[in-house]
Amino acid sequence: MSDLSKLIADTHATLSRIASDFSPAVFASSLAAEDMVLTDMILKAKHSIGIFSLETGRLHQETLAMLDKVKQHYGYDIAVYKPQQDAVDSYVAQHGLNAFYDSVEMRKECCRIRKVEPLNRALSGNKAWVTGQRRAQAATRTSLLVEEDDPAHFMTKFNPLADWSEDDIWNYIRDNGVPYNALHDQGYPSIGCEPCTRAIQPGEDVRAGRWWWENPESKECGLHVVDGKLIRIKSVAA
Ligand code: SF4
Repeated sequence: MSDLSKLIADTHATLSRIASDFSPAVFASSLAAEDMVLTDMILKAKHSIGIFSLETGRLHQETLAMLDKVKQHYGYDIAVYKPQQDAVDSYVAQHGLNAFYDSVEMRKECCRIRKVEPLNRALSGNKAWVTGQRRAQAATRTSLLVEEDDPAHFMTKFNPLADWSEDDIWNYIRDNGVPYNALHDQGYPSIGCEPCTRAIQPGEDVRAGRWWWENPESKECGLHVVDGKLIRIKSVAA
């Protein structure tokens, strides 16, 4: 069995265990490459795990197009969670549409409104959630486990692709004809909201294009915990 075949088998075993022992469980998809691998595995093997995505209102058109691509390819409607419009309107009226560039606090508040609150709604009532995070993706993820306690959401969190490399992801996508976000072919290995994501240059860290004005240790959006602690933004790069 090749290394990738073993990773695939292990991941299916994890997904089966989630479906049987942690029902109801949901998968939070950002519609990026890793998430499409998990989407493919969940839907083709009919693992009983719902899939949702956070539509922040600031996503690239290419990312939004993935919702239709998934519908066309798999006949599956990903559940979409949007921010509370009154909270967005209030933030924009008080601080401006792009105030997240102004300070760490403004960035955290925008992520809280557009991502964290909708995530909490999406996770409500579930026993576990699933992410497409990988250990090799970022300085904040080096200790990522396949299964971990998520005290912020009072449930178990699974990262079935924790052991996968970037090559594993793309080999799976190519081998299985998985649809993927067109931005990945335009220098975006990691994709978030449009104003907070840029393409990277060859040799740059894969998450260098996310919140590029902040320190590497800070590049999370409050959706995840590390070592039992909610990830906090520590400082702003010059
Ligand atoms: S990534 Fe940027 S635009 Fe998206 S919610 Fe966070 S601060 Fe706001």
